[in-house]
Amino acid sequence: MPDVIKILPPELASKIAAGEVVQRPASVVKELLENSIDAGARTITVVIKDAGKSLIQVVDDGVGMSSSDAKLAFERHATSKISTYDDLENIRTLGFRGEALASIAAVAQVELKTKRASDEAGALVRIDGGEIKQVGEVGMERGTSVSVKNLFYNTPARKHFLKSNATEFKHIYETVQRPAISHPEIAFQFVSEAEVVFDVRPSTLEDRLIEFFGEKQVKSLLPVEEQGEIFHTSGYLGKPEYARKVPAEQFLFLNKRFIINRNLNHAVYSGYEHLVEMGSYPFVLLSLEIDPHRVDVNIHPTKLEVKFEDERSVYRFVMMAVRRTLSAHNLIPAVAIESEAGSETASKLSFTRVSFNRTPLAGFSGRGSAVSQTVDVGQLIQAGNRQVEELEGSLPQKKEGLSTTIRPLAQIQNKYILSEAPSGLMIIDQHAAHERILYEQVLPRLEREAGQSQQLIFPQTLELSQADYATVMELHPLLEKIGFQVKLFGKQTIVIEGVPPDVKPGHEATIFQEVLEEYKDEERNPKSDARDRLAKSYACRAAIKAGDKLSHQEMVSLVDQLFATQVPYVCPHGRPVSIKLSIEELDKRFGRL
Ligand code: ADP
Ligand code: MG
Repeated sequence: MPDVIKILPPELASKIAAGEVVQRPASVVKELLENSIDAGARTITVVIKDAGKSLIQVVDDGVGMSSSDAKLAFERHATSKISTYDDLENIRTLGFRGEALASIAAVAQVELKTKRASDEAGALVRIDGGEIKQVGEVGMERGTSVSVKNLFYNTPARKHFLKSNATEFKHIYETVQRPAISHPEIAFQFVSEAEVVFDVRPSTLEDRLIEFFGEKQVKSLLPVEEQGEIFHTSGYLGKPEYARKVPAEQFLFLNKRFIINRNLNHAVYSGYEHLVEMGSYPFVLLSLEIDPHRVDVNIHPTKLEVKFEDERSVYRFVMMAVRRTLSAHNLIPAVAIESEAGSETASKLSFTRVSFNRTPLAGFSGRGSAVSQTVDVGQLIQAGNRQVEELEGSLPQKKEGLSTTIRPLAQIQNKYILSEAPSGLMIIDQHAAHERILYEQVLPRLEREAGQSQQLIFPQTLELSQADYATVMELHPLLEKIGFQVKLFGKQTIVIEGVPPDVKPGHEATIFQEVLEEYKDEERNPKSDARDRLAKSYACRAAIKAGDKLSHQEMVSLVDQLFATQVPYVCPHGRPVSIKLSIEELDKRFGRL
């Protein structure tokens, strides 16, 4: 038998390699824009024809190249951006692989014109399918112009798989918009079929966003700014009520590089924590800054994906940044939607935090004050993560011990608590409120060592189904952390020896089984993790129910604790906890305004 392995000819090898970097016209646009930004351009123009299929031209006023560099730039692995392995660990430019120009030139007809400030004339290089066709001089200003014609002309299969012009245009539009958002200090001009699509001057981020999304939407955004020990983030978040049904307008930048990262997307959603329903998408723009040593941007040729040294802590950081921004604003579902301006001022008053050291929620624990139910905001952080703890500390109002400004007046049908708020009337769902309180108490316990447990004088034996027994086995360590002390006896028998302090006496076994049921239900939600599911199930089942009569003291305590939580306006399942009727709304309804 003859040998079968052979080395591919260079043209074929380079076409294969090009395929990884250049998948569609937008990929070319992305790479050329990155080069212009890396070259320090202040003004960048992108011109396309036929959705980039026949022409893509990017012109910048950056540093330019010498004539020999202009030729070398098209070699594979030719780069000015890194030279040692250490540089690779500390990347501060958008490019570094030295592949883009080589890849683009392998699958198109390229003309490069470039000039440095110090050079008399500019350099011209023409390449077709990776072969240099012409080298010369041109008269031009400082900067670089790359034009890419007839993309994929020599790779028919690629060309065939291109989508409609509308689709390819949309990709290009997004590709130009992203760096225009992460670099508001650079002017971007985008021209398609000889028409200006956008032309944005250097400005602030806010003004740049207004150019793209309009004043109304931008003014409704909530600014984010968090400084951690190793991370910094800033940006804007959309209010949940403006969330869209289509996944768009989500910008995640890492050191000014647009990235796609599922972990961080999830962190953002956890931050919104049910303020948006599944399948709707709020506007998100988060710009993260991290020491480049702590992140690997070299995991894919397109550099869209990155790997963080510590995925968990960046997750937490982002989640807390989002959560804090949202809870610092009045996100209560107000009945009066029209009186935006009014409720805005009112929000400042009604959001005043309640006392930090609150009285135990007597009656709910049923076991008197031996068990402290103090909501320690510090404990609400999911783990002893330093980053997050530091964030908590940066919230002065929580440490100040302000007394509550929301005064319960009456209980309606043993279900709702009618309260007076400085800005109007507030109706609170007692079950949802207690659920929120318990959820936030339990989450940090799940991250730490075993929590408080109330020993039962008469331990309760339960026979479980095989499936439930398996679930208990699996959840055993977490159950203990919440405070359920459970002994497993094999053959599907368990004995409950202790329960968390909030569990109503006499209902231990029922509540335990309900928590299991609820947990299994929650398991259908693939997004949540076991801890979150368990915390939700427990909060739901151990909370007071609609129909439970409350004393005035109990209502006061419940309301106090509710407004000391991180997200007092929605229950862990995403239903509203309270409804507010502002004075403006009442005045309007009574014809006073
Ligand atoms: P990389 O960006 O990864 O270095 P590229 O193939 O995209 O690789 O570019 C190769 C080199 O060509 C760059 O390192 C840079 O020195 C030079 N270059 C490319 N585009 C420009 C530009 N617009 N202005 C100045 N230099 C450029
Ligand atoms: Mg590049």
